[in-house]
Amino acid sequence: MKTHARVVVIGGGALGAGLLYFLTKEGWDDVVLVEKGELTSGSTWHAAGLVPHFIGGLSMAKLHHVGSELYKNLERETGQATGWHGCGAIRLALNDDEVDWFHHVKGMLDYLDIECHLIGQDEIRTLHPLLIVEDVKMGFYTPTDGHTDPASSTHAMAAGARLGGAEIYRQTQVLDTRLLDSGEWEVITDKGSIICEHVVNAAGSFAKQVGEWVGLDLPIVNMEHHYLVTENLPEVEALDREPPVVRDPKASCYYRQEQQGILIGPYEKQGAQAWGLNGVDWSFDMELLSPALERLEGSLEQAAQRIPCWTDAGIKRVVNGPITHTPDGGFLLGPAAGLRNYWLCCGASIGITQGPGCGKYLAQWIVHGQTEINVRDMDPRRYGQWASGDYAIAKSIDEYQQMYQPYLPGEYREVGRPIRVTALYKDLKQKGAIYGDSFGWERPKFFAPKGLNEVYGFRRTNVFDIIGKECRAVRESVGIADLSSFAKYEVKGRDARGLLERLCANRLPRRDGDVVLSQMLTTLGGIECETTVTRLTEEHYYLLSGAVAELHDLDWLVQHAIPGEDVAITNVTDDYGVLVLAGPKSRDVLSGLSDADLTNEGGFTWMRAKDITVGGIPVRALRVSYVGELGWELHCKMDMLKSLHDAVISAGEKNNIRHFGTYALNALRMEKGYKAWGSELTTEISLIEADMRRFIRKEGGYIGSQVVQQKKKDGVPLHLVYCEVEADDADSMGNEPIYDGDNIIGITTSGAYGHCVQKSLMFAYVNSGFESPGTSFEVGILGKRRKTIVLAESAWDPTNARLKA
Ligand SMILES: Cc1cc2nc3c(=O)[nH]c(=O)nc-3n(C[C@H](O)[C@H](O)[C@H](O)COP(=O)(O)OP(=O)(O)OC[C@H]3O[C@@H](n4cnc5c(N)ncnc54)[C@H](O)[C@@H]3O)c2cc1C
Repeated sequence: MKTHARVVVIGGGALGAGLLYFLTKEGWDDVVLVEKGELTSGSTWHAAGLVPHFIGGLSMAKLHHVGSELYKNLERETGQATGWHGCGAIRLALNDDEVDWFHHVKGMLDYLDIECHLIGQDEIRTLHPLLIVEDVKMGFYTPTDGHTDPASSTHAMAAGARLGGAEIYRQTQVLDTRLLDSGEWEVITDKGSIICEHVVNAAGSFAKQVGEWVGLDLPIVNMEHHYLVTENLPEVEALDREPPVVRDPKASCYYRQEQQGILIGPYEKQGAQAWGLNGVDWSFDMELLSPALERLEGSLEQAAQRIPCWTDAGIKRVVNGPITHTPDGGFLLGPAAGLRNYWLCCGASIGITQGPGCGKYLAQWIVHGQTEINVRDMDPRRYGQWASGDYAIAKSIDEYQQMYQPYLPGEYREVGRPIRVTALYKDLKQKGAIYGDSFGWERPKFFAPKGLNEVYGFRRTNVFDIIGKECRAVRESVGIADLSSFAKYEVKGRDARGLLERLCANRLPRRDGDVVLSQMLTTLGGIECETTVTRLTEEHYYLLSGAVAELHDLDWLVQHAIPGEDVAITNVTDDYGVLVLAGPKSRDVLSGLSDADLTNEGGFTWMRAKDITVGGIPVRALRVSYVGELGWELHCKMDMLKSLHDAVISAGEKNNIRHFGTYALNALRMEKGYKAWGSELTTEISLIEADMRRFIRKEGGYIGSQVVQQKKKDGVPLHLVYCEVEADDADSMGNEPIYDGDNIIGITTSGAYGHCVQKSLMFAYVNSGFESPGTSFEVGILGKRRKTIVLAESAWDPTNARLKA
């Protein structure tokens, strides 16, 4: 066994082997994998092996595609068969929401050039003669789907990795991982230690325990999952080809042919069981769990209605094994919060599908510091400490039970919530706040009149007019929102400015009290973070980021501080509450509560900050506005939030101050043409593609500047455009294809209806040649082509006159 390696991967399942393979493809051969049993002996060996393309997100669809492509082609490279069956797959839609969802996913797959068809009952019957489909509204057919033999595929990836120089140590248990003073990791096994630069936790059902060695409390829960295999059936024997895999939301089951019988995999809609909550015995290896068929009865009854021919057949095999789940159903891929070069590659619930894609993109991340896809929804730092324990258990069980149900836009399931609230939570609820959650924080989506229940969906819903009223209140008078969820940091010390200058692509604030918006870039120029920097003194800065970026941006700051630098970075998110006060009357409201000079003439101009008192409460007031109006963010000690809120509300009564929620916030920022981190601004592109040249510091000297300068010189093939859409009952929500005739020339990133400008608006990335204002093309929204035109300027207040009033 080696004593030193560049990377040590702990765990030889589909994810660990996939990563090892792709690390060698990135050119790193000094990489090893340590497996306590045999390869695949965790969850991988007994999986059903399905590899679907149908998935709700664009990056995830790209990642899934890596799996099916690799499994098809790996034998040629390695000589090791993967057991790939390219039988295709059909997912069934039983209601209008699912039909809408299918159109949306089809748009994404069309953009990625992954073959898919929306088909009717007759075509479904032709493809799969054993199905009863009278209740089916539509089928989503992906002919290039299939299933693979998970053990063979994993061994094939391992063989490919070995060909690339990797070493694999089987029957070797990792006992501990320790950070050394040198910054390297020591991986301690029962056969000796390996010192490495990077360590990867790909330990499947044991990942939570492996993480505990380094102080992590990962939100991973093992769920019990069954499938059954029937005896041979004459109806299956009579088929002239293997029918597609089927996913059936009614029974919450998948079906595929297995030899001459049928394999049925139910996800219990109720009563699903978590397993190993107190830890999994390290000796658990190549084992299954005791079947609990009584839990499956409901699903199996419905499965029998879908494929009646198996009803009288004997069941020849029942498999019940652990699957890792997380609160949002996604895996954990990327850096562990607070640790340098400790990576997570675990928590996958469809890991046979995802192992190769996880491997490919994590290998890019480890080797190049950036991936070619947007990994924000995969990054483990989307969870904080709040996500562990009971929350993780409740959410993961719910996710498992809802596995085959669509997550509708606007839907934030109640299970496990609330977990992170401000002092205004109950008061605002009484005023009608309907909450969604972000990074654990409860945030009002909108304020509903008594008795209104939000109907979720892909189209405009019954809260459309309410959002309009909230938007108009902000634009016409004054609105207030609790946005305490902002991530907040203090950066202090003699070298604080130096650190921020290295990280920020924009120029830093020049005077005390100046505020600047800046992006931080990777060495490859991708947009990694976006933050608002307020200079309190030359050696003291106050930074704000989006709620979901709390740990991500903290890591970026902390890990870029050079040892010996005099800089202290503190996460003060929970210390300060934030009220956003916005609208033409906001100055009137605030001046009734403060002696401070709030006028432009008095120096309180746009992008300035001052410490003032509001209703006797000390407040750091930032004159910034994400909604594009005269307004302030009022930052106070968290325990003063309620007093501040109550004072502002009573002072605002005469101006009919109105609460607004995140739906209105999004609509208002779209009217103003403000780009959002995570949707428009991602590591996939630089500030040049994003049309953000005015946020680039001319002198350079920041991380990623060389790439940005080069792109500025050479030009880029992709451009962010801001567009008006001729929509009717559905607006863009991102990930819709853009068409020029029959050619797909781009993809949307986000959108909303602008109630005050009465326009449906969206952002999209389009190929060169389509970015000029006035250019017209079409966007496919829920299967309908909508005419779209590129706008030259923001739909609201293009001169910033209102913002600067
Ligand atoms: C019944 C069933 C059916 C499924 N069907 C499908 C399907 O059709 N399609 C699909 O995509 N997914 C399916 N899955 C899910 C899939 O099996 C898992 O998501 C996937 O196997 C996870 O792979 P992994 O590499 O993360 O974990 P694992 O396969 O569990 O690998 C982790 C490895 O780490 C090793 N390890 C742990 N701790 C240590 C240590 N301290 N030292 C050394 N080694 C260690 C373990 O021994 C294990 O081999 C199914 C799961 C079940 C239970």
